[in-house]
Amino acid sequence: MMRLDVEGLTVDIGGARLVEDIALRAGSGRFVGVVGPNGSGKSTLLRCVYRALRPVAGRVLLDGEDLRGLSAREGARRIAALPQESAGEFDFTAAEVVAMGRLPHQSAAGRTTAADTEACATALTRVGAAHLAGRGFLTLSGGEKQRVLIARALAQQPKVLVLDEPTNHLDIAQQLEVLSLVRDSGLTVLAALHDLNLAATHCDELYVVAGGRVVASGPPHSVLTAELLAEVFGVRAHRVPHPASGAPQLLFDRLP
Ligand code: ADP
Ligand code: MG
Repeated sequence: MMRLDVEGLTVDIGGARLVEDIALRAGSGRFVGVVGPNGSGKSTLLRCVYRALRPVAGRVLLDGEDLRGLSAREGARRIAALPQESAGEFDFTAAEVVAMGRLPHQSAAGRTTAADTEACATALTRVGAAHLAGRGFLTLSGGEKQRVLIARALAQQPKVLVLDEPTNHLDIAQQLEVLSLVRDSGLTVLAALHDLNLAATHCDELYVVAGGRVVASGPPHSVLTAELLAEVFGVRAHRVPHPASGAPQLLFDRLP
């Protein structure tokens, strides 16, 4: 496992500042959520962490080591990502999609080893998708696609998993299933989540992003206050403890 630190992260695109001076830490094996309104900079932050985007300032560190010192291959052995809206572009079988997760481990010749085959089979089984191996990825339902993409990420055998709104377009049972799969992975997880109640029940810590900055962070019960939700999301929130877990759950109204 591995600790993820982001320090002073600032991104400019086309003269606009998208995120500014973002700092966060995901301790080894922790599940850290990033929440915030649409357009607040969550995806921009995550894209810097999985190196799809280069910040103008700031660093991403894995156990204190700057990610920029690593090759793309080395980086991909440590961090696997599920980008937002990644589903739908693969005209491959589910097994082939999962096998892509092995690329960072393979030699330039790209020969598949027994270890690769084993890692893919194990990953598919872990997400309960072994029976989907031969199916065309494009023929899968949203929940099945997401399971296969998680299997691809697990086959990559990373230390850190970065997920951008992994529960979008899933029904509630699938949402809960995806989040518990991720939690059970035991990996260090950084996930943008738009459902605050799911974030509150699944995350160890939350970072609230608004206008490209972190405006609050900490355990869900201390972060998700009525004041913060009014200020950041523009809603009136009533907090009730989840009857089973005790996690804070929110009921929303429009602000008066
Ligand atoms: P979130 O994921 O929280 O919805 P994003 O990180 O996608 O937010 O976007 C943050 C802001 O940056 C938004 O205002 C968005 O329009 C803008 N933005 C994102 N990507 C680009 C880009 N490539 N070029 C210009 N603006 C962008
Ligand atoms: Mg986004």
